[in-house]
Amino acid sequence: MQLELSEEDRAFREEMRDFFTTKVPEEIRDAVKDGQELSKEQIVASQQALNAAGLAVPHWPEQYGGRGWSDLRRHLWNEEMQRAFVPAPLAFNTSMIGPVLAQFGSEELKERFMAPTANLDVWWSQGFSEPDAGSDLASLRTTAVRDGDDWIVNGQKTWTTLGQYGDWIFTLVRTNPDVKKQAGISMLLIDMTSPGLEVRPIELIDGGHEVNEVWFSDVRVPGANLVGEVDGGWTIAKFLLGNERVGVAPVAATKRNLALAKDRYAERVAADPLLAARVAELENELLALELTALRVVAHSEGGEPHPASSVLKLKGTELQQAVSELAVDLAGPASLASGADDGSALPGFARRATPTYLNLRKASIYGGSNEVQRQIISKTILGL
Ligand SMILES: Cc1cc2nc3c(=O)[nH]c(=O)nc-3n(C[C@H](O)[C@H](O)[C@H](O)COP(=O)(O)OP(=O)(O)OC[C@H]3O[C@@H](n4cnc5c(N)ncnc54)[C@H](O)[C@@H]3O)c2cc1C
Repeated sequence: MQLELSEEDRAFREEMRDFFTTKVPEEIRDAVKDGQELSKEQIVASQQALNAAGLAVPHWPEQYGGRGWSDLRRHLWNEEMQRAFVPAPLAFNTSMIGPVLAQFGSEELKERFMAPTANLDVWWSQGFSEPDAGSDLASLRTTAVRDGDDWIVNGQKTWTTLGQYGDWIFTLVRTNPDVKKQAGISMLLIDMTSPGLEVRPIELIDGGHEVNEVWFSDVRVPGANLVGEVDGGWTIAKFLLGNERVGVAPVAATKRNLALAKDRYAERVAADPLLAARVAELENELLALELTALRVVAHSEGGEPHPASSVLKLKGTELQQAVSELAVDLAGPASLASGADDGSALPGFARRATPTYLNLRKASIYGGSNEVQRQIISKTILGL
């Protein structure tokens, strides 16, 4: 395996590094560095800065703003973005619904949504999960029934991330209850200002409001908002979920967070051999994961996502959680002061260590839980 970057790829990496560290507003990158929750405006501003430079949706088809880069270049783009504390473009827009519309959407839907989706003029939410349909997504029960040209939608979605900001929601709905469960599902795009649609907040363990329930009571949806064929939603969902798993291991962000912790508590780490060993072990594991990520990139060039993306998801989220746990231990008693406001004498990164640790419990659940990734690894890689 060739691990040296070519001269051209090294120059490309420099170009990315230069852009991300100079063209995305510093106050946004500082907020990410400090572990602060970003506002909707900050997320939009950051993505729009990227999109203006053609860097928000490089993986899309070129006619919609894609760049036709190699997988290695996409990897370098992603790595440099994380390293520079630049918030990733909104995954619901760029990794999920954008590629789905490009592949399955009608010309009308493409014309209407591709450009605003890339530029985050439309903020998308993902309405897949339901109270009894998470890992077993095909059990979903939200119904859509024909009424003339329209659909009438009833039911409930849950865990809708940042749904409070959502303009539109892409949903999976049951359009045929009389066939095998996977065969009776369709994908509908729903305007979140539609009468009968209600977003209810879910309060989280870290005190934040990141997820919601979305309720539909006789919500009328125009027939033109169907993506693909009636009852063809499962194929689209599998396409989307495959994309969701790729890139879900934030190796560069975890490396940079570990480096920050090591730097902030340099004296303590140097004075305590057990702490130093813990840091070294995490650094080694991250290096191994980074090399695995590069190997996966090299093997999936131009093709389907490599099954090893499940290994990246599993190990990447475990390391992300381990680094957040180390940050709590390093912050010590200061990590208990999460309720203190910005007038506190304690540094923000120490006060935010515990909420961040608690928030990251989610990483091993979403994007396909880690238990489900183990099932995929056992079947497709180990052949068990
Ligand atoms: C913070 C957060 C944000 C989310 N955002 C969104 C969103 O925006 N939109 C959206 O649609 N969904 C979202 N989700 C939902 C997410 O996709 C589901 O939580 C996930 O698919 C797991 O489903 P579940 O929570 O119903 O758990 P369940 O499927 O009920 O699983 C419960 C436990 O059983 C295990 N398990 C289940 N099946 C198997 C199996 N076959 N083999 C072994 N173990 C198994 C699971 O791993 C888990 O530990 C979000 C979830 C979280 C936590």
